[in-house]
Amino acid sequence: MTQSAFDAIIIGSGAGGGASAWGLASHGFKCLVLEAGPFYSPSEYQLAKESWEQNDFPDRAIHRGSYSFGRMQRLRPELKDLRSWNHQTGLTNNTDYRAAGKYHHMRGVGGSTLIYSAEAHRLHPDSMMMRSRFGVSGDWPLSYSELEPYYCSAERIIGVSGPPGHSVRFRSESYPLPPHRLSYASTKIKEGCIKLGLTLESNPVAILSRPYDGRPQCNYCANCYRGCQMTDKGSVDVTFIRKAIETGRCVVRDDCRVTRLEAGDADRITRVEYMNSDGKFHAVSGRVIVLCCGAIETPRLLLTSKNNYAPDGVGNESGAVGRNFMETIYWYSSATHSEPLGSHRGIPVDSVCWDFNGADSIPGVIGGCRFSASVAEADLVGPINYAKRVATGWGKAHKAAMRRLFGKALVIVAMGEALPNKYSYIELNSQEKDDAGIPIARINTFIDDMDISRLKFMSKTAKEILIASGATGIFEEFSAYDTFNSSHVFGTCRMGSSPEDSVVDRYLRSHRWKNLFIADSSVFPSSGGGEAPSLTIEALAIRTANHIARLAKKAEL
Ligand SMILES: Cc1cc2nc3c(=O)[nH]c(=O)nc-3n(C[C@H](O)[C@H](O)[C@H](O)COP(=O)(O)OP(=O)(O)OC[C@H]3O[C@@H](n4cnc5c(N)ncnc54)[C@H](O)[C@@H]3O)c2cc1C
Ligand code: SF4
Repeated sequence: MTQSAFDAIIIGSGAGGGASAWGLASHGFKCLVLEAGPFYSPSEYQLAKESWEQNDFPDRAIHRGSYSFGRMQRLRPELKDLRSWNHQTGLTNNTDYRAAGKYHHMRGVGGSTLIYSAEAHRLHPDSMMMRSRFGVSGDWPLSYSELEPYYCSAERIIGVSGPPGHSVRFRSESYPLPPHRLSYASTKIKEGCIKLGLTLESNPVAILSRPYDGRPQCNYCANCYRGCQMTDKGSVDVTFIRKAIETGRCVVRDDCRVTRLEAGDADRITRVEYMNSDGKFHAVSGRVIVLCCGAIETPRLLLTSKNNYAPDGVGNESGAVGRNFMETIYWYSSATHSEPLGSHRGIPVDSVCWDFNGADSIPGVIGGCRFSASVAEADLVGPINYAKRVATGWGKAHKAAMRRLFGKALVIVAMGEALPNKYSYIELNSQEKDDAGIPIARINTFIDDMDISRLKFMSKTAKEILIASGATGIFEEFSAYDTFNSSHVFGTCRMGSSPEDSVVDRYLRSHRWKNLFIADSSVFPSSGGGEAPSLTIEALAIRTANHIARLAKKAEL
């Protein structure tokens, strides 16, 4: 065992951990970041290889997190229109139960932002007041205007390119970079939206429309999911973590998985135990511990760290750790267009329609959604996927179909609010343990009737937009109804004003454990109406780092 003299121990280096490290190091804290995955170098990404389309991000299996699923929901025959399908292969899940798909995430320095699409959204202010306004989810114990300056800081660090102003989301500063021009595919979708009375605009993204902060501008390769070789994508490794290290006060230890938090006297976490890549255990302590492992691993670590001081798990005095799990409610509809669109290139999600994003903007439904054009997120950026999923036939007929269809896919993705319910939660799976002997997480997930009503609206509207845009032949649809596939997960360590029903306070400090803060997506009391979460995670983490610095000055840490 080793003891270290760091002021702050940050566990996890994704959106929350990276922003925490930068925030605290900028305030003079000596920071140690413990990250379960490795450092990746953009030169490792495989886009220059002939086999690029068959390769995902070059993650090393050893670093993937394990998780399991509870009993999956039974599907209802009357909701067959909400099932996922492809015109060549039929239903993608042909069982009577919802499929346990994937928790999409990445272990590595930069966390899931290594593979994210870099959408950089602010939350709709109303979605932070879901309990008081609509009687569902939880209220955020802080307002949009309190978070606004930190949104600006995060946008400057990661380099967001976005359109001027937004009527609902007040901005005190313009985006650091001008918006990307809409791709030709998105201009077709915009024409369709206009016919339907909807507005489609450039999506704010942490993808550089101009060289910025020593990074080049995007080359529109559409492959953010496979890792950005150019480094223009504002993933945390090339932005927050790089800047934290440049302060000279931040050390990142990769391949170091935290296995336990030791709760002790005076309501403090006294030690952080971790295992390095050789399987050896070490321990460190710090004046401040900031936990940022994401909404599945963070509750797992808290629950697994029980001892006499914390018999129900660390921070679980209210029983809320693991509860209120919210997942990605998604719908994808894909069709082809008669015109050559070159839709296999561009940035992954270059346009967005916010018209139904407000929590009361879908008639008869609580919780909003948004629509975007995204051929890349459906992974239709190369010939192999076209051959497997779009072009039918064999031999010459197939070749002709490929020539006719390549680059002509149009995809509308809809992302919606997820409302917490009592069947959706994370718990420990005592039957399955990892190589450190710690139970892995079990994901319990349930789509309730309100989510289903929202999905019906998302499905209907996505098709209407495609048809109004001139697309014909919908060839594939993917739906959260029959398959859990989540890249946005939230809620399992809710922030709130009351220690009775939440885990952390408005500054993300544990209600009980004085030196413990949680700064990742697990603290969200509500999911938002389809907004991508990482900008909000980063803004919250920067705000918390400022608060920790204030507490340190007053000797209240
Ligand atoms: C394919 C994909 C596309 C996405 N697109 C977008 C998008 O366009 N815009 C957007 O805003 N969001 C997007 N997201 C979601 C976004 O990436 C996540 O919401 C965000 O990164 C979550 O931040 P986090 O800090 O909570 O967790 P993560 O970023 O997942 O980071 C958690 C980190 O903790 C580490 N860790 C876990 N357990 C331990 C442990 N025991 N010890 C040490 N380290 C540990 C992990 O290795 C990981 O590095 C996408 C995600 C995916 C997978
Ligand atoms: S589209 Fe742009 S941001 Fe995404 S991987 Fe390619 S170069 Fe990087």
